[in-house]
Amino acid sequence: MQGNSIGIADRPRRPRIYLDHNATMPIRPEAERAAVAALRIGGNASSIHAEGRAARNILEDAREEVAALVGAAARDVVFTSGATEALNLALSPGVRAGADGMLATRLFVSAIEHPAVREGHRFPADRAETIPVLADGTVDLPALAGMLGRFPAERVLVALMAANNETGVVQPVREAADLVHAAGGLLLVDAVQAAGRIAVSVEQLGADMLVLSGHKIGGPAGAGALVLGRADLVLPGLVRGGGQERGRRAGTENLAGIAGFGAAAAAALRGLSDCPAMAALRDGLEARMRGARPDHAIFGEAAPRLGNTSCFATPGLPAETALIAFDLAGVAVSSGSACSSGKVKASHVLDSMGVPPDLMHCAVRVSLGPATRADEIDHAFDVWKRYAARRVQRAA
Ligand code: PLP
Repeated sequence: MQGNSIGIADRPRRPRIYLDHNATMPIRPEAERAAVAALRIGGNASSIHAEGRAARNILEDAREEVAALVGAAARDVVFTSGATEALNLALSPGVRAGADGMLATRLFVSAIEHPAVREGHRFPADRAETIPVLADGTVDLPALAGMLGRFPAERVLVALMAANNETGVVQPVREAADLVHAAGGLLLVDAVQAAGRIAVSVEQLGADMLVLSGHKIGGPAGAGALVLGRADLVLPGLVRGGGQERGRRAGTENLAGIAGFGAAAAAALRGLSDCPAMAALRDGLEARMRGARPDHAIFGEAAPRLGNTSCFATPGLPAETALIAFDLAGVAVSSGSACSSGKVKASHVLDSMGVPPDLMHCAVRVSLGPATRADEIDHAFDVWKRYAARRVQRAA
C-alpha cells in the first residue's frame, strides 16, 4: 500500500456473523480438541497392540456419545463418512427385516427430502414414489396412508426427515411411523437437522433406521452415522472390504472425525436446554422483519419449526442480491438449500409447499447456532432493513 491511502484490507473489520448453521456448523471447541487428540494417537482401531486399543477406546467412546444423543444403544451405531453415505447405505432395495426376512421392494420419500435421499437411494425409478407435503411444509399423512394401502403385499421403505433443512419444519414422524408399521413397512428418519436442536429418540420416533451427520452439530465434516432401530435389520453393504463396523461398513475408521463427532454429540445433548433462547432470537428477528414489511413471508410458520431456522421471502427482494448484501455486510446466510452446490436455484422444498416461483426466488434462509448473540441478530436485521430500503428506492 502506497502513501497515506487506506485500502479495504486495512479498515477495521467487524467480526463476521455466521448465520448458516444448517449448511454446516463451525466446529465446537470440545470437538476440535477431541479430533486433534485422536489424530495424535496413531493407531488403527482394528489392531490389537496398545496404540490400536487406544484408537478403539476413542472410537467406542464416540459411539456411546453419538448413541446417547438419540437414545440408542452404542452397538446400533454404524459410523460412515457422513449422512449422505449413511442414507445411500440404508436406502437399498436389499434391506430386509423381521422373522420373514422380507425385502423392501418399494421406496416412498417425502417431497422435501434432501438430495442425499432423493438421488442417493438405490431403488429402480419405477419403484420409488414421492409423498406430497401440505402447504405448511409437513408431510401429507393421509396421502402416505393411501400410498401404503396400494401395496398391501409388499414391504415399503419410507424416508421422512425429522426436520427440514430449508424451512426447519418438524415432521410428524411418530404418526408416520405408526402408519408405516401398521402396513408392515420400514421407516428411515433423516435426523441430520433435528439432532441437537430438538430431542431426538430413535424409539420415540419409531425409527427403524436414523441418520446423523457430524458437521451439522459442530463436529468435523466427514463423519456421520446410521443408527439401527431394530436388531433384525439386514443391510446389503455399500462400502465393501474389511469387517469394520461389525461388517456393515468396511474401511479404516476416520478416527479424528468420529472423535470430533462424538464430542460434538455430547455437547449438542448438553446444549438442548439452550435451544429456547435461540428460538427467542429467531422469533424476535422474524417479528421485526414482519413489522417492517407486513408482506414478509415466513415459510412453514404455521407448523412446528426448529427454533434456529427462519426461511423467509420479502416480495421484490431477490435472494441472490440479498445474499450478496448480507455477505458484504459481514453476515453469512443462504438461499434455499445451498448444501452442496452453493448455487441459488429453485427450491424443491418450497415448490412442493406450493410457493409461487416469484416468491421462491426471494427465499433466504437464516440459521442460528448455539453461539449466536442478540447483537448479531440486531446487525443482521439492520443489514436486511437497509437492503430492503435500497431496493424500494430503486424500484420507485
Ligand atoms: N440430510 C439433510 C437434511 C441435510 O441437511 C444434509 C446436509 O448436507 C444431509 C442429509 C447430508 O449430510 P452430509 O453432509 O453429512 O453428507
